[in-house]
Amino acid sequence: MNRFRPILLPLPAVFSRSWMEIIFRTLAMKPSTLTRPSSRLAFTLIELLVVVAIIAILAGMLLPALAKGKTKALQARCTSNLRQIGMTFAMYTGDSNDRFPYSGRDWPQMGFIDYLKLMDPYISTNARSFYFCPSEKGRGFNLEWTMANNYPIKTNELLFPCSYYYYNQFYHNNDSSALQVRKVSEVQSPTKKAISPCFSSNRGKWNDIYKGTGAAAHGPRGMSLLFVDGHSEFALYDRLNAPFKDGAKLIYNLDWTVGGLAGEDLK
Ligand SMILES: [Zn+2]
Repeated sequence: MNRFRPILLPLPAVFSRSWMEIIFRTLAMKPSTLTRPSSRLAFTLIELLVVVAIIAILAGMLLPALAKGKTKALQARCTSNLRQIGMTFAMYTGDSNDRFPYSGRDWPQMGFIDYLKLMDPYISTNARSFYFCPSEKGRGFNLEWTMANNYPIKTNELLFPCSYYYYNQFYHNNDSSALQVRKVSEVQSPTKKAISPCFSSNRGKWNDIYKGTGAAAHGPRGMSLLFVDGHSEFALYDRLNAPFKDGAKLIYNLDWTVGGLAGEDLK
C-alpha cells in the first residue's frame, strides 16, 4: 500500500528556533536596548544627557524673555505709582493757590520729611504703599539715604519708607541760590519738566545717580519720572537733558533738573 507520507525536510540552521527568536526579539527592541536586552524600559546615559541638554537650551531661550517681562512689569507698576503721586500733587496745588509743596525749610528736611508731611492729608494710610516702588530692593530710598548720610535728620522723622523724591527746584529759584515759593504757572514745559523721580535702590545702597547707575534698582538704562502735567514714564537716560557735566560725563543728579522751572528735562 502506497501510503502518503509527509516529507520532513530539515530547516536550514538559520531558521532554527533559536535564530528566529533572536530576530523577533531584535525587531521588537528599541535601539537603546539593543545593547541591554534585559532592561527594555531604561534610559541610557547618553539619552538622559541629550534630554537634559535640550531642556537647558529651552530654559536658556526662555529665561531672558521672562526676566525682561518682569522688568517691564515692575517699570509699569512704578510709573503707575508715580501717576497716583501726580494726582496728590494736583490735589495739593489745587488747594494751595497753585503753589508747589513748600514748608519753608531747605533740603534735606524739605525733600525727605516735609514734602511727605505736606502731602499726607491727601494720602490715605492704605494708599501709602504706592510710595514704595515694586523694584525697590532695599528699605526705601529715604531710609537708605538717611541711614547712610551724616545729615541732621533721623530715620524716626521719616513718615514711611518711600522710593520717590521731590526735586529741589520746586522750592528754590531757578539757579538754586535761594529758597522761593514756586507756582504751577511758572513751569514753561509741564510735559517735559520732571517733578518726582523714582530712586529705588539696590539692597544696602542708596541710589546716588551722581556716582552712576550701579545702585539703581531700575538698572542702567533709564529712570521712572513724574512730570508736572501729571503723566509719568520710564525715560531712557539718552532722552534726558542732564543738568550738569562732570568732564565729558553727563550728570542727571538727585537734586536738580535742567534750567529751573523754565527748563526742559526731556528732549
Ligand atoms: Zn521705581
